[in-house]
Amino acid sequence: MSAPHAFMSPLAPGSVIGILGGGQLGRMLALAAARLGFRTHIYSDETESCAFNVATAATRADYGNEDALGKFAAACDVVTFEFENVPDSTALYLADHVAVAPSPRALHLSQDRFLEKSFVAGLGIATAQFRNVATGADAADAFRALGGPAVLKTRKLGYDGKGQKIVRSADEASDAFSEIGGVPSILEKFVDFDFEASVVAARARDGSFAAYDPPKNEHENHILRRSIVPAPLSPDSVANAIGIARTIAEALDYVGVLGVELFVCKDGTITVNEIAPRVHNSGHWTLEGCAVSQFEQHIRAVAGWPLGDPTRHSDAVMENLIGAEVEDWRRLAAERAALHIYGKRVVRPGRKMGHLTRITPRSG
Ligand code: AMP
Repeated sequence: MSAPHAFMSPLAPGSVIGILGGGQLGRMLALAAARLGFRTHIYSDETESCAFNVATAATRADYGNEDALGKFAAACDVVTFEFENVPDSTALYLADHVAVAPSPRALHLSQDRFLEKSFVAGLGIATAQFRNVATGADAADAFRALGGPAVLKTRKLGYDGKGQKIVRSADEASDAFSEIGGVPSILEKFVDFDFEASVVAARARDGSFAAYDPPKNEHENHILRRSIVPAPLSPDSVANAIGIARTIAEALDYVGVLGVELFVCKDGTITVNEIAPRVHNSGHWTLEGCAVSQFEQHIRAVAGWPLGDPTRHSDAVMENLIGAEVEDWRRLAAERAALHIYGKRVVRPGRKMGHLTRITPRSG
């Protein structure tokens, strides 16, 4: 069944692409859209949204404001999202008034770690073993069932390690449940991974699919520090990782770019950690490393265009500029690297302020 506002012909240049969310992902989507001749309209609840500066139009309103959402929907030919924690009611309201991609279902699933992991596991794809936790006693029982160490995570709204605690006993699991706020959670068995990787891939309206080479991702303080391509993965593991992303995208009848975060174990086993139904920080290297970046690819997909060529022409290392690191822009500007500064006015510890990508000729 097609969505009430699905469209079959590609949107012509000059059409308006609405983007819900005004952070750096929205900003880079708007820049990519502009290159293809589209206009963009950013809708954000924050006055200081760095995507506003590069878009054709901007709305500053709450995500629950139906009057503002209605006007936004009427002004756009298609609406997409740059973050997944869009309230269900907002995504459904928009989908009733304008074509939206990806679907509210993809957003809904990826907002809730229990639904997300159950969905992925239901596709026969490996995840960490997990249990739903509604009480402190559940947390202790789950620990006894899974064994430790384990990670207690809130079902909703955790990101960059927020709302998570590593636990090593049933008592610690029950205490951790109170410490993370006593909210619905999951307990996951700790995966003894060798490194983290991700697949950034796109699916178009006609079902065609394209994936970028998976990077190896390094985190510091739970925040992505750098992504490195190529990752130290065998061709079979790369094919396996991309196959996982494809299975997920097809099961969701997904339209747009998605990121699938993976744990890679020493024996080559690949486990899905989470799905991001949007362009992904670990795909920023594609701006310089590929003919068509993840941002252009997403715009192409949601506009009903054919997907572009995701082939990697260079090796790349992308580093995030976090917090005050961006204040070093004079030195960074003198490096032989592609510098991206998001134009956020307020520097905060842990805030992603920009990134830097170094490319070198493709090694293999
Ligand atoms: P998440 O918020 O689920 O993306 O988790 C943030 C980070 O915590 C991941 O990138 C991993 O480094 C670590 N982590 C999360 N879940 C697990 C797990 N089950 N086993 C090992 N490390 C984990």
